[in-house]
Amino acid sequence: MGDTIFAKIIAGEIPCDKVFEDDQVLAFNDINPQAPTHILIIPKEPIPTTDDLKEEHKPLVGHMVWVAGEIARNLGLARDGYRLVFNCRGHGGQEVYHIHLHLLGGRQMSWPPG
Ligand code: AMP
Repeated sequence: MGDTIFAKIIAGEIPCDKVFEDDQVLAFNDINPQAPTHILIIPKEPIPTTDDLKEEHKPLVGHMVWVAGEIARNLGLARDGYRLVFNCRGHGGQEVYHIHLHLLGGRQMSWPPG
């Protein structure tokens, strides 16, 4: 399963503030939110980085993005908008090496990111 904190959350060894779960993904509130809404959508399969994605993962990544959009709609974020982010390795600012899609909303985002 991998040995990251997200693998432990999926295994139920560490609690999370769950927002959504199905057979492929888990979504939960970020412990250190950077916006009024900050949710992480993670696959149950422990893929370390987006650079490790294979062609077979295309449906899974599409599902992650679709789940993020569904959550955003359900939380009323869609009209004003929101941001989806994958960080990859050091320059991307990735801290947890189990891919995760950040859903950020509820405030104006700046561009370019820092
Ligand atoms: P990244 O920098 O893209 O790897 O993002 C990792 C994210 O995981 C950060 O936003 C952290 O605040 C978040 N995080 C780390 N540990 C936990 C945890 N136990 N529960 C929820 N979010 C976490």
